[in-house]
Amino acid sequence: NITNLSQEISTIIQQQAYKKEIKFVANIQNDILINGDPYRLKQVFINLLNNAINYTPQGGKVFLEVKLLSDYLQIVVQDSGIGIPEDDMNRIFERFYRVDKARSRNTGGTGLGLAIVKHIVEAHKGYIQVKSEVEKGSTFYVYLPMHKNIS
Ligand code: ATP
Ligand code: MG
Repeated sequence: NITNLSQEISTIIQQQAYKKEIKFVANIQNDILINGDPYRLKQVFINLLNNAINYTPQGGKVFLEVKLLSDYLQIVVQDSGIGIPEDDMNRIFERFYRVDKARSRNTGGTGLGLAIVKHIVEAHKGYIQVKSEVEKGSTFYVYLPMHKNIS
């Protein structure tokens, strides 16, 4: 139940956002059931939302949307944060890759979060896209097929 799962995670993220004075808004469609691994899918939400909070300064905004398109579940995680430079865009899904190590060192990540997200999404026969603009923010789009059997 993707609806319940993403609502649970939103409660946790809301607390993190509140502490950092970030405005968090979640728009989650009701009654979405999907064929997949709930623990792994939870990790997808957590990793994307943690990034959104981590790479967004105080006073910013983070938005989560979960909705059903015709054959796909669409998950959108949008932030008004530091953004990702064009040159780094195709490398952020690599293991241990971090943009500008000096800049992001204080956030203490290992550079694995997005590699894990991509791996899980692809294991569910889905795909992930990102749009970003430096100092404006980033938007990650995850698409998971609704009617496929996952082996
Ligand atoms: P962790 O393993 O703890 O998640 P991480 O956050 O550094 O560490 P990833 O989640 O894989 O690793 O992200 C890789 C890099 O992509 C980050 O270091 C950061 O530079 C950049 N990045 C990811 N998400 C965002 C975002 N929402 N806004 C700006 N930069 C981002
Ligand atoms: Mg991360």
